[in-house]
Amino acid sequence: MSAFYLNKVKDDNGFHIVHKDGCDLMPEPEELVYLGEFDVCMLAVAKAKGMGYRNVNGCSNCNKPCFYEGYVDK
Ligand SMILES: [Zn+2]
Repeated sequence: MSAFYLNKVKDDNGFHIVHKDGCDLMPEPEELVYLGEFDVCMLAVAKAKGMGYRNVNGCSNCNKPCFYEGYVDK
């Protein structure tokens, strides 16, 4: 299991990015929300959505299976 964090601050494409503990692209601590410990990033993304965050995306560096290219639906 790994600890997952959500960036409270949207990226340039309008996404809240989910990072795994130890990611090289981890944002500043004050920008992070702790999601919990999960086996796979899909569960971390689901948790973030359950907390009310929309447009959640996996980090292209640490959560590639959950990363998708594109833009948010407006
Ligand atoms: Zn990351």
